Amino acid sequence: MLTYDLPYISVSFGSANVVFKMFFSKHVIEFVNRYFTFQMNHLYLLLLVFLSLIITPQPVPVAAWGFQPHRLINRHAVYTLPPSMISFYKHHINYLSSQAVAADHRRYAVAEEGARHYIDLDYYGIDVPRYWVQVIQEFHRDSIQEHGLLPWHLLVVRAGLVQAFKDKDTKNILKISADAGHYLADAHVPLHTTSNYNGQFTNQKGIHGFWETRIPELLLSDFDLWVGKAAYRDDWYQRLWDIILESHQAVDSVLQFEQELTTIYPEDQKYSFEVRLNSITKVYSAEFSRAYHHALNKQVEKRMRSAIKSVGDFWYGCWIEAGQPDLAVKFKKDQAYNPEYQEIADSLWRQQHVLRRSE
Ligand SMILES: [Zn+2]
Repeated sequence: MLTYDLPYISVSFGSANVVFKMFFSKHVIEFVNRYFTFQMNHLYLLLLVFLSLIITPQPVPVAAWGFQPHRLINRHAVYTLPPSMISFYKHHINYLSSQAVAADHRRYAVAEEGARHYIDLDYYGIDVPRYWVQVIQEFHRDSIQEHGLLPWHLLVVRAGLVQAFKDKDTKNILKISADAGHYLADAHVPLHTTSNYNGQFTNQKGIHGFWETRIPELLLSDFDLWVGKAAYRDDWYQRLWDIILESHQAVDSVLQFEQELTTIYPEDQKYSFEVRLNSITKVYSAEFSRAYHHALNKQVEKRMRSAIKSVGDFWYGCWIEAGQPDLAVKFKKDQAYNPEYQEIADSLWRQQHVLRRSE
């Protein structure tokens, strides 16, 4: 490990991922940004060359959506649920939200976990068998483990959630619901359906985190995440594949618009610098991010909305298939539970529009 100490800046070399540890000071950010606008003398020029050689976008753990969008997707999905479910889900909303990323954390501990989060459709082909029994006849287990099994795993998760409802097993209902929200959200990310998942084959490294983390992080406050109420569907095999295929169809535009904008925006406008955890990090600039978001016609927001709706539909569908178990039973004492009222509330929920936030 080499360390150079410069005024305000401590530069460390440890591995390929060079991190700049800088004193947490606004002046440092201004300093870097100012001299990236080409007002520099020789010393700063040297520093600039030095920085540009070794600062790269922070390596992105390929996790589908940033942690915050994952949490928000599960949280918003709760509000799509019918009265018979919502009291239970709302009671546990913080768990469902925080555990929305548990599946990603497991990737570091469980070898088989990684493949559950994606599917390389460019490897399998879009006509890949929809049924697991056929898939394992056509493809070697090692290949499946390498190229992902997201849609097939979601069907396992679905069976697990139906069973948990039948068993009225609160712990499993919550755990599997949180995981289902995660995997469904992953299925909505175009780059989770291709082996070029981080633009590594097209000289666009970092695009994964750009799409799923940077864009939502910057523009979330503009997103409309209200998606109405959950709907029952009896065609989950088809629905899951539709989600995956929609995502896969979007891969070309995800890559193409980034490439096109890169030819328009010079390097110093495409990227900017931010302090994160006391480190200077190179990120896609706000201007470039907005231009990308609009070029994609708000695709990130649309996929996030679709993910929320799908999670609500999924939870609701599993509960219906389990025979609509009484989830309110655990809160009877607390909430003056009235089965008659619950029935009326459910029927109103089915017939009427759910009120929008603004109404
Ligand atoms: Zn994931």
